[in-house]
Amino acid sequence: TPLSREATVYVAGHHGLVGSAIVRHLRAQGFTNVVGARSAEVDLRDPAAVQAWFEKVRPTVVVDAAARVGGILANSQSPVEFLSDNLRMQLNLIDTAHRFDVERLLFLGSSCIYPKFAEQPIREDSLLTGKLEETNDAYAVAKIAGITQVDAYRREYGRRWISAMPTNLYGPGDNFDLQKSHVLPALMSKFHTAAVEKHSQVVVWGTGTPRREFLHTDDLAAACLFLLEHYDEPGPINVGVGEDLEIREIAQIVADVTGFTGELVFDTSKPDGTPRKLLDISRLTGLGWKPTITISDGIRSTYDWYLANVAQA
Ligand code: GDP
Repeated sequence: TPLSREATVYVAGHHGLVGSAIVRHLRAQGFTNVVGARSAEVDLRDPAAVQAWFEKVRPTVVVDAAARVGGILANSQSPVEFLSDNLRMQLNLIDTAHRFDVERLLFLGSSCIYPKFAEQPIREDSLLTGKLEETNDAYAVAKIAGITQVDAYRREYGRRWISAMPTNLYGPGDNFDLQKSHVLPALMSKFHTAAVEKHSQVVVWGTGTPRREFLHTDDLAAACLFLLEHYDEPGPINVGVGEDLEIREIAQIVADVTGFTGELVFDTSKPDGTPRKLLDISRLTGLGWKPTITISDGIRSTYDWYLANVAQA
């Protein structure tokens, strides 16, 4: 069922990589009442703040793109914050959405919820069938709790709420901080600096052999609206591109885009993380949706954004 373009849609995390893409897409699709609040205004970890915000805006649609996120290093170094902050934020948001009778809610998770050694490509029903990858288990457990909470509200109160699990994401507005970021923005920043300063080498973490799948946030945003309008089932639904690449191949694409012609050095003292996490997206494609942005186009346009907004600053 199509959503009313006049509906009040609250995008939690609207300033982040994912939330900002969702806001852009909703506005481009004619939504006139898309709202969000920065964490300084509404701290989602505080139940009273969430209650007051819902009283003020009274959303009928909620997209939960608010999360403490980070790359492999940040996740492995700060498990307490990744667990506690994420649990608190989603708990407050989902409970409050129920009190305010929110009609449609989309909870966003991550492909790291699936077992480390899940059969590839990873199907939705492999959830909770094996041990998690250690470098991000705290974040994953928080996200699994969120999916369970959404499903509990579906079962007990008949809520038409859903959960979507995107694969690794990238796009404009990403975090390019080398200590906290995910691999793509980190490599973009490293290769850019090396190209500009004419270094002979760039250090890539790990062995370069893990495989990752990358989805542009504009594609994810389109999938989110599609799901809100066409999907109403329990359990997670995967959102990805259906193909993955070795980290070394990704690094080579970034090197080419940034114009770096030197050598790639692999630092095996850094963790590889899970060997592979390719999502099975047949459930989503079966509904009639597919991604449109190729990895090389996506990296190129994200690099243009980086040049205009980060490198310049
Ligand atoms: P993950 O998908 O949860 O493992 O998170 P990341 O995006 O941080 O890392 C993905 C893979 O890229 C891992 O195997 C990392 O070791 C590798 N990698 C290579 N170079 C870098 C880098 O500079 N930063 C990050 N974050 N990862 C890197």
